[in-house]
Amino acid sequence: MKLNDLGEFGLIQRLTKNFKNFNPHLLLGIGDDCAVEKITDEYMLLVTTDLLIEHVHFVREKIPPRFLGRKSLSVNLSDIAAMGGEALGFYISIAIPRTTELTYLDEVFLGLQEISELYGVTLAGGDTTASKSDLTINITVTGKAKQGNYITRKGALVGDFIQVSGPLGSSAAGLQITLRNLASNRYPNSYRAHIDPQPRLKVGQALGRSGAVTAMIDVSDGLLQDLTHICNASKVGAELDFNTIPKDDEIILLSNELNMSWENWVLGGGEDYELCWTVSPHRELEILKIAEANGAPAPRTIGQITDAKGIKIYRNGCDFPITTDGWDHFRFV
Ligand code: ADP
Ligand code: MG
Repeated sequence: MKLNDLGEFGLIQRLTKNFKNFNPHLLLGIGDDCAVEKITDEYMLLVTTDLLIEHVHFVREKIPPRFLGRKSLSVNLSDIAAMGGEALGFYISIAIPRTTELTYLDEVFLGLQEISELYGVTLAGGDTTASKSDLTINITVTGKAKQGNYITRKGALVGDFIQVSGPLGSSAAGLQITLRNLASNRYPNSYRAHIDPQPRLKVGQALGRSGAVTAMIDVSDGLLQDLTHICNASKVGAELDFNTIPKDDEIILLSNELNMSWENWVLGGGEDYELCWTVSPHRELEILKIAEANGAPAPRTIGQITDAKGIKIYRNGCDFPITTDGWDHFRFV
């Protein structure tokens, strides 16, 4: 069997399945947006880590270094948001090609500092080494959540409504702008969504406090793939009404110009870093209001959890064929 037959998640499963848990404090390990450790009776410690590699996750010429710094931290904060947590500190390990300009690194760290200040998350350590060719950035973020307030991917129930915090597909559209060197001011929302995503920390925390949200994830790999994670963890299926999924009209204009499918950007584009969660129908409207009051740009109900297997999508009452999968490091490279 080859790496690309297994896929990213099959590979993680294969490599980690024989490890034993020696930590009685660990409530949740591999398989969610953060690991959860019970530190006191009241508080849980949340930990998440992400790796960004030049030429895999970013190309230096396509993202200004300040925004590379901002995005590196923001995408980690998004995983804390997806648990309903509050971010505390972060650690940055960086491997730097010896030829890198000092001013480039200053800009990366300026971006990190901006996000650190914006969300009140403290730089607490890291590691610095030289690299032979590619710039590599690994960030680990710690956070906390009260017992009973953190939300995993696991609790979705048949009949729950599926909601998202904001427009999907914009980051995938923005990626095309950077790849094709289009003028970013023609599609400013898409470009911004791609180079400067906003972790929905306040939304996540408010949903955690509400006690009404049964499962949650951040949309990092595309709605279908990330909703599949909720479905698999919760052992349920899902139905989506395509027309109710929020999107920015910019992406339709851009997709027409490029002759690409904006529908695939919405369903599988990834890197939107909006939150997707499930909620009991009788609290649907209340939760949409809470999300909006905490900064969600376009909170919407987009579907419902079912007892079938997999995800079905309807558009104007008809079956909508799924032609995208979302991002997988080993299947699509
Ligand atoms: P996310 O998209 O939320 O950042 P990932 O898809 O990267 O999550 O990872 C899914 C889960 O697998 C997470 O719980 C993560 O900690 C775990 N994981 C990923 N790679 C490894 C690895 N090499 N060893 C152990 N756990 C891993
Ligand atoms: Mg995540």
